[in-house]
Amino acid sequence: ARLYDYLIVGAGLFGAVFARQAFQSGKKCLVIDKRPHKGGNIYCEDIDGLRVHKYGAHIFHTSQKEIWNYVNRFVEFNRFTNSPLAYYKGKLYNLPFNMNTFNRLWGVVSPEEARIKIEEQRRKYASLPEPANLEEQALKLCGEDIYQILIKGYTEKQWGRSANELPAFIIKRIPFRFTYDNNYFNDEYQGIPKGGYNLLIEGLLKDIEVKLNTDYFENRSYFDHLADKIVFTGCLDEFFNYECGPLEYRSLRFEHEQLEIVDFQGNAVVNYTEREVPYTRIIEHKHFEFGQQPFTIITREYPKAFAAGDEPYYPVNDSLNTAKVKKYKEKAAQFPHLLLGGRLAQYAYFDMDDTVEAALDLARRESLF
Ligand code: FAD
Repeated sequence: ARLYDYLIVGAGLFGAVFARQAFQSGKKCLVIDKRPHKGGNIYCEDIDGLRVHKYGAHIFHTSQKEIWNYVNRFVEFNRFTNSPLAYYKGKLYNLPFNMNTFNRLWGVVSPEEARIKIEEQRRKYASLPEPANLEEQALKLCGEDIYQILIKGYTEKQWGRSANELPAFIIKRIPFRFTYDNNYFNDEYQGIPKGGYNLLIEGLLKDIEVKLNTDYFENRSYFDHLADKIVFTGCLDEFFNYECGPLEYRSLRFEHEQLEIVDFQGNAVVNYTEREVPYTRIIEHKHFEFGQQPFTIITREYPKAFAAGDEPYYPVNDSLNTAKVKKYKEKAAQFPHLLLGGRLAQYAYFDMDDTVEAALDLARRESLF
């Protein structure tokens, strides 16, 4: 018999939830991670009690009561509500597009006035035939003002291309809200763990053996013989030695800065929608947890094309990559002891609640309940 029932590659949210279920069902697990910390991308660095989201701002939100109850078993959540702002040429606009935004843009006060104004803005572009690119698509959906002030520059920075060279399908619809509600998410539940995300991970991995600074690929043959089954949450293409070609990602670069002031922007998230400003967002971490520290830490977020050695943040779900993923998954199906999970191995954009759900589903399929 092998030493462990499960070797779990990756101490991120997926690996941690799966490990918890396996452990609770009496299975012997080893979790390894190549990083020097647990938590994967939800890890926060604690700087004198101020927690910095090192791999991008994370806000937990879900409409699934079971998922919400599940994470609340391990940590309590605060009442943080995501209400980002957009900064454009010295003015601030509320997001998502709602009555506060329309009031700021045009001075309209009632929902009726706002609807009329948006119709008027759109009318100019209504006769456009099939939109040929993202610019035409956006103009057709929201008209000139919202497009120029809140969409164009931000989108161009995000994709590293000008809007009239980007495909129209990137923007399918633009949701408008005709109330004065700045809550970004429509989900019933949201918040940030009280004391930070690391507590969630610590709770999930309590009493479970974890080895950090340990890369599966550096000792693959050893690890392959350690457990009956492997749950792999790293990159799908890397697992198969890039046999069907490398998968593409979008990456990000973060610039963290500590400032000896109490408050920099009065809000957790401010988007910068001007093309000329090189970053897309500034995150002020203390506001996720209503921090009272005498100092603050901000992070400027820069979009970045993915290059070897970068963190693979977002999958690029175009037809080429989708075809490669299909081939890789067919290969994976030939190994009954191999279980792929999480955003990297499934090459999917998973929010945290999707990740928890996927890990619980896999645990169920493994009869770990
Ligand atoms: P990861 O967190 O990536 O964990 C995988 C782990 O595997 C990593 O720790 C990695 O080091 C390890 N690993 C990989 N290869 C190896 C190897 N060869 N050997 C050993 N270990 C290995 N979701 C939300 O719900 N709300 C948000 O606001 C939100 N914001 C986000 C912002 C950004 C910028 C990004 C990128 C994602 C965001 N998400 C958000 C999604 C969220 O991060 C994911 O749902 C979640 O972290 C996925 O967990 P995971 O375990 O699948 O992957």
